[in-house]
Amino acid sequence: MSGFNPQRGFGVYVHWPYCARVCPYCDFNVYAAKARDTAPLFGAVLRDLESWRERTGPRQADAIFLGGGTPSLMTGEQVEGVIAKVDELWDLRPGAEVTLEANPDDAARFPDFAAAGVNRLSLGLQSLDDARLKFLGRTHTGASALAALETALGKFRSTSIDLIYALPNQTAEDWRAELARTLSLGADHLSLYELSIEPGAAFFQAVKRKDWSPLDDERAADLYQITQELADAAGYSAYEISNHARGREHQSTHNRIYWSSGDWAAVGPGAHGRLTNGPQRWAIEAAEKPGEYLRQVRTTGLGWAVVDTLDPLAQARERVSMGLRVVEGFAISDITELDLQLAAAPVAEFAAAGLITNENGRIALTRSGRLMADRIAAEISP
Ligand code: SF4
Repeated sequence: MSGFNPQRGFGVYVHWPYCARVCPYCDFNVYAAKARDTAPLFGAVLRDLESWRERTGPRQADAIFLGGGTPSLMTGEQVEGVIAKVDELWDLRPGAEVTLEANPDDAARFPDFAAAGVNRLSLGLQSLDDARLKFLGRTHTGASALAALETALGKFRSTSIDLIYALPNQTAEDWRAELARTLSLGADHLSLYELSIEPGAAFFQAVKRKDWSPLDDERAADLYQITQELADAAGYSAYEISNHARGREHQSTHNRIYWSSGDWAAVGPGAHGRLTNGPQRWAIEAAEKPGEYLRQVRTTGLGWAVVDTLDPLAQARERVSMGLRVVEGFAISDITELDLQLAAAPVAEFAAAGLITNENGRIALTRSGRLMADRIAAEISP
């Protein structure tokens, strides 16, 4: 099948690359905010959106996601300007999800973001424990995180909390207590991530120097199981490997576009997007460094620096690895419509081992399978 299928969804991602301070576990494309004038970046983002529109043609946008970086460093006017531009270019679907990732330190601006049209706030709490927050290099405290959550609740249609676990020396009891407390806070959505040591992050060097050791895989897997049990019991079932929602209406529309291999326009330094253009599907990366991005948009009108054409095999592999992340998995027809087949023997073996289900034309991970998602995706893919 060729051409964009609107059922997979279309969204807009805006990468705001500045942070008050760069956290030592972070390998995203981020830069210290300092006292920068962000007006040129804001202007470039709007111009880049216009150029994307020339390439997508008319579509309806299901979601906007302002991520980063720390987009809560944007002003309310800038956020409003982005939302208005997307609506002008793509006709934002009524009730479309508009998410902004926020640092608890920026709680004073939450009312401005709500007034600008943000209806989903994703709050980077990371921990409620001051010592752990310090270890993570965060500038907020447990108390200020709770105050920020208090400010957010009721102002947005959905409020989400990010938490990081599997920190060095974290015991099952520690995590149980912290998670139980978090689950009682009244958020609508939780993103619960294991700490991962990424090569681009300062933590990678710290571990290499043996300053501290990450939790071993077995203990991390125990904490993952605890996460699933407690979240399920509190009514926050996982709908994706790390994401839990209190009901379908609080699941992230924007992330679902990624997991169902939809299309999304992506603007801002280093933003990654996908565009189906007739029979072709492109993986697009914007120029990475803010200065390069500004130059690129100034000279060409468009932030694109890398455009890879995804052949049917690459598309199928992406559909498998993304589709396996959600609890309902992916349809086998997602693969056969590309004239490809899943690897039959591994599918049968993983199903016999209770790691995947193969029912009603869909393949999905079981709870134990979720711990091996990457390996299973690689082995069953065409
Ligand atoms: S973790 Fe978040 S706040 Fe910290 S540097 Fe990365 S993007 Fe910025």
